[in-house]
Amino acid sequence: MRFDLKRLEFFSTKGNFMSILSWIENHRKLNLLNAPNYQEPGSEGSEGLWTRCDHCGGILYVKHLKQNHRVCFACGSHLQMSSTERIDSLIDAGTWRPFDETVSPCDPLEFTDQKDYTERLLDAQERTGLQDAVQTGTGLLDGIPVALGVMDFTFMGGSMGSVVGEKITRLIEYATQEGLPVILVCASGGARMQEGILSLMQMAKISAALHIHQNCAKLLYISVLTSPTTGGVTASFAMLGDLIFAEPKALIGFAGRRVIEQTLQEQLPDDFQTAEYVLHHGLLDLIVPRSFLKQALSETISLYKEAPLKVSGRIPFGERGPLTKIREEHLRRFTQSPKNAESTTLVKEFQDLLTILAGNSLGLNIDGENLFEPGVGVLDSQTVNQAFTVACQQTSRLDWLESTELEVRPVF
Ligand SMILES: [Zn+2]
Repeated sequence: MRFDLKRLEFFSTKGNFMSILSWIENHRKLNLLNAPNYQEPGSEGSEGLWTRCDHCGGILYVKHLKQNHRVCFACGSHLQMSSTERIDSLIDAGTWRPFDETVSPCDPLEFTDQKDYTERLLDAQERTGLQDAVQTGTGLLDGIPVALGVMDFTFMGGSMGSVVGEKITRLIEYATQEGLPVILVCASGGARMQEGILSLMQMAKISAALHIHQNCAKLLYISVLTSPTTGGVTASFAMLGDLIFAEPKALIGFAGRRVIEQTLQEQLPDDFQTAEYVLHHGLLDLIVPRSFLKQALSETISLYKEAPLKVSGRIPFGERGPLTKIREEHLRRFTQSPKNAESTTLVKEFQDLLTILAGNSLGLNIDGENLFEPGVGVLDSQTVNQAFTVACQQTSRLDWLESTELEVRPVF
């Protein structure tokens, strides 16, 4: 016996006619609305065993979800991934070297909305364990040395403040001087409004650093857009990649959909601002599912390495100060190294070295850690460089920086 489900009608609670199918559909939607939202990794400190997909409502076992790079088993949608998970999935185990972990934001505008900006920062820092919305560093990607920056959407919506800008700029400058390709994984709501013009300035700063990296040093920069990439990040480094990759169905845009609809007084297509739509309109180069991302990146860089007509680049004069951020970072680590006896003697030796090289004429405070406290710039940079050369015994790649030849050689 056959009967048509759609024709089976019954009274809903409001007394209207309603087919069973639409009742089931409504019920499913209602369940989805009432269900707890998908928990971003580590957003509440304690992680449950199960979570729910935002798109299809499927119940997912967190352990398996993690193994599957946080891609839903039921509908294949790419759920939010924390920056640490992203680094783990892209960089070979044990090779990650983070940069500028201690750089943290301040509140120059003393901005207050419902909450003080400083309070918001503290909240986010406690929740995520990060200082700001980006992690930068170097590591090996399938054995290829790369400079990688990963934004974290769970930290204030991945908004780009002055710290995010500074860390990314330092990463790019480091990569330029060391001849590394840069990969930036974007996930951001845009510039951070609490820092006003200071956050907008980062767009120009990063773009300028990228100009040196790509056009002068002729090195590779790949940007990977994940959901969502919007606002100031789209308007600067996300769209400047030599190659622009994106994840399937990622939200990519500048202004929000509603704003555009109201301005244009037009109905926009359903898939507007998705990665597929944007690819179709020529803004992207490739959409790569998350599980293939590492492979795609390593193959692309290998291809680039083999490029026959590659021109070697140069870093323009003035872009390479005597005391670069890299040296500053080395110096900082050198002086702040753990308090074991070995490193204490190292610091002591370095201070002695400085004193000898400077002919004891700098008036340094030799007793203890106060030496570098007033900022590295106080020291005579030439002396510091000399001391480094002696201390590092020219074994590191830093000696390349010292050479008079400014040509950039990709290292991979
Ligand atoms: Zn799903």
